[in-house]
Amino acid sequence: MEQKILEELEFIDESRIFTSKAELYAYGFDASIHHATPDIVIRPKDSEEVERVVTIANEHGLPIVARGAGTALCGQAVPIHGGIILDMTGMNKIKEVRIEDLYCVVEPGVIYAQLNEELGKYGFFFPPTPGSGDVCTIGGMIAVNASGARAIKYGATRDYVLGLEVVFPYGRVRFGGKTLKNSAGYQVERLIVGSEGTLGIITEATLRIFPLPERKAVALASFDNVIKAGEGVADIISAGLLPSALEIMDNVCIQAVNKSMAIGLPDAEAILLIEVDGKECTVREEIEKIAEILGKKATKIEFTDDEEEMLKLWKGRKGVLPSLSRYGEDMISVSLADDMCLPVSKIPHAIKEFQEIAKKYGIVIGAYGHAGDGNLHTKVLINPRKEENWKKAEEAVKEIYKVVHELGGIASGEHGIGITKAPWINGDIETMERIKKAIDPKNIMNPGKMEQWRKSIIAYLRY
Ligand SMILES: Cc1cc2nc3c(=O)[nH]c(=O)nc-3n(C[C@H](O)[C@H](O)[C@H](O)COP(=O)(O)OP(=O)(O)OC[C@H]3O[C@@H](n4cnc5c(N)ncnc54)[C@H](O)[C@@H]3O)c2cc1C
Repeated sequence: MEQKILEELEFIDESRIFTSKAELYAYGFDASIHHATPDIVIRPKDSEEVERVVTIANEHGLPIVARGAGTALCGQAVPIHGGIILDMTGMNKIKEVRIEDLYCVVEPGVIYAQLNEELGKYGFFFPPTPGSGDVCTIGGMIAVNASGARAIKYGATRDYVLGLEVVFPYGRVRFGGKTLKNSAGYQVERLIVGSEGTLGIITEATLRIFPLPERKAVALASFDNVIKAGEGVADIISAGLLPSALEIMDNVCIQAVNKSMAIGLPDAEAILLIEVDGKECTVREEIEKIAEILGKKATKIEFTDDEEEMLKLWKGRKGVLPSLSRYGEDMISVSLADDMCLPVSKIPHAIKEFQEIAKKYGIVIGAYGHAGDGNLHTKVLINPRKEENWKKAEEAVKEIYKVVHELGGIASGEHGIGITKAPWINGDIETMERIKKAIDPKNIMNPGKMEQWRKSIIAYLRY
């Protein structure tokens, strides 16, 4: 980095600037298959510092990549053109909790679980529930529109963003507000949701909050055929029931969990895990109704509203991702084609097609995810140290997305686009580029990602 730029950055305390080779290398990873090294890492303490750094970056045409916890799965936080990483974890204050107005105001580096711990003291919560919630930041969640198992009932991060403060290359601006409704002009705060750091840096968020449910109950149903499991999902939804989670696991995932966790999941072709929540008086009734509906097609069904038993039933589902990397010798799970979203009724057909594609390319694909809102997670299992495996995987991924689009689906339901899903981004690329150019004409904000990525996804490999 030029000495002149370093001098301009001297207003940042040196304890919050990182330039050693080891630090820069470490900041080059997120949880994706990609890696690239930044020129400098800065951990700002407030909005003013962010604004000053962005102004300097814009003057010099220097790339700038915001980073929360670095758990993104598609390379969103990887600085492929070098430049500045803005580590937002130093801005981690919960500034306001207004229960009677149903909102809270937070800095972007607040961790999801930390916010819910605070809101829980009042009997409230921020519902989107990503699997990475113990570590991921609110800024990262907004930038990617994160969600999780409970999106079927509670929606995604986008549904909770009331207002934002954002630093664009031309300055610090605010959109939205603290009200629960807003028809006052362009909803620019919603445009920022899902923009993956390519437009501006989020420096403050006002979020809607919800009362915690009184009670929960969970059911686990096994099926000898994935199509029957899909029909079970349709039957629950058609009966007018709205579970708080409706999860599916295919046979590869079941085997992986049983091998690595030894918790004795039923040896089935597919499993559904269903959670209901709400008032004490209705929860038991709802889970019994769901068990009755699924009982017509399932080979086995169990349900409970006991806290410990519920945790046991959830354990297998939560263990899928780490277990997949222990499915076979020399194989790990890599984040490729990992987050497509389909019309709910198409889920079982998609899983069947993915199994055929896996067979054709001699690879293993495990499928699991949020059957209730159509969001599947397919992990490709390969030995990442053999180049031919990446070639096979990339061809398989192309066929997977062909199936997804043919079935009316989209590339990502919650993990975002980054590099790894860029060729399959939905919507008009030219319009996205026009918005990007209007806000960021020098292309300094997380450049080269999303609509700008045109090459093979097997690039900037960490392996
Ligand atoms: C084990 C595991 C499980 C996961 N489960 C889920 C899940 O269930 N649901 C889900 O949605 N995702 C999941 N993810 C993906 C990831 O955790 C989420 O996308 C999360 O929201 C990313 O937050 P982060 O703080 O780690 O952001 P980072 O990875 O640091 O950044 C993600 C993107 O946000 C941008 N960004 C970060 N902060 C800001 C800011 N202040 N202003 C502007 N842009 C910013 C970055 O530039 C980058 O483009 C999972 C990941 C892992 C590793």
